[in-house]
Amino acid sequence: MKKLYFITGSQDLYGEETLKQVATDSKEMVSFLDKEINKVEIVWKPTVRSSVEAEDVLIEASADKDCVGVITWMHTFSPAKMWIKGLQVLTKPLLHLHTQYNRALPYKSIDMDFMNLNQSAHGDREFGFICTRLGINREVVAGYYKNEGVLRRIQRFADVACAMNYSHNLKVAMFGNNMRDVAVTDGDRVESEIRFGWNVNYYGIGDFVALVDAVTDVEVEEKLKELLLKYEMATENLAAVKEQVKYIIAFEKFFAANDIGAFTDTFEDLHGLKQLPGLASQEMMSKGIGFGPEGDYKTSALMAVLCKMAEGRDGATAFLEDYTYDLTEGEELELASHMLEVSPVFAASKPEIQVHPLGIGGKADPARLVFDGIQGKGIAVSMIDMGTHFRLICADIELTKQPEEMPKLPVARVMWKILPDFAEGAERWIYAGGAHHAVVSTALTKEDIALFAKLTDTEVVFIG
Ligand code: MN
Repeated sequence: MKKLYFITGSQDLYGEETLKQVATDSKEMVSFLDKEINKVEIVWKPTVRSSVEAEDVLIEASADKDCVGVITWMHTFSPAKMWIKGLQVLTKPLLHLHTQYNRALPYKSIDMDFMNLNQSAHGDREFGFICTRLGINREVVAGYYKNEGVLRRIQRFADVACAMNYSHNLKVAMFGNNMRDVAVTDGDRVESEIRFGWNVNYYGIGDFVALVDAVTDVEVEEKLKELLLKYEMATENLAAVKEQVKYIIAFEKFFAANDIGAFTDTFEDLHGLKQLPGLASQEMMSKGIGFGPEGDYKTSALMAVLCKMAEGRDGATAFLEDYTYDLTEGEELELASHMLEVSPVFAASKPEIQVHPLGIGGKADPARLVFDGIQGKGIAVSMIDMGTHFRLICADIELTKQPEEMPKLPVARVMWKILPDFAEGAERWIYAGGAHHAVVSTALTKEDIALFAKLTDTEVVFIG
């Protein structure tokens, strides 16, 4: 399990008795938080009293591969020059929790000993100054630590910190490169690794074809059984479906062997494959594997990271493409989809496996999952490369039921309302340079994206 270190600041000035009390109190708080916060273990660390101790524990946090972030809290006053060297070596996200052990003041008994023991109002301001002076992008959460709102924000920090840790180690496989001449899906892969940790590499489609060719009939039968628990067979063309099942098995083997968490493909480079991966890409996305079509590595990696962030929450998260509109005045709707690749996490009912021709790419008719989309509040998140920096664009959307059946549309579709209204939402997206590929989530909120942007020092534009 991933960990958050909980580090309490103090100093030697107050004597042994006070420090003993600080340790007892902070242990009790950590054991409470550990019970309340999911996905990570909150680990109590001994009270920091000096510059050396601060540096030691923050070096330890930075070096510990299972530690995804640090929570600091000043129980007493803790002069902040002692935090400088530690904060300079900290490489993990920081949450500064501005709270108290006691909720209310003991008005009848309060004396100077109590004041000296419980002075985070004082000590956390001192700590905050040095973070600001050092230019540290951190999350500050103020409030009693048992308050629901405070716990929610600590949970969000844990979710984002886990996603950042995952991002740091994420490997992305590009089968084929960026679609020829397309601008917005391209980007600086070196800068992506510097900024987000994404190790993005090109793989020849031939390596994948070799794995596809090696898949056995027994493996195909087993996988097909597994798929038919989730999906409805709605085609007689079993051979086309089995071809996609081979791709699923080959993807799983390739990703496991190369430690891959996200991938791209392109219909322009499918040499040796009979079909464009449709059902196969959809199945991969449903497992939280990032996917971006047409060589869109940024959307693919972002999808994997946001799926990690959303782990443990209700809702759906995956890639989608802006496709076409219903521009009926005042009731404008967007229809999002793709040539084939829409994740079944968006399915409102059991998806059907169908086989239809594909107009682009000159390959055999591919099998794909077809379904109508879910409803609910969501966000669409796009990442673009501005040349000097990356920009996130995050728009509020309202996923809606399609007004009518679309019996001739051979792909899965999701419909939504652009917010606050069509003109403002679409115009601002276009001014911001947002792509036609995005990661859509009904599990995450703009607050999650804001925190991710802040902690990764990424520009972000909100629309909604
Ligand atoms: Mn596309």
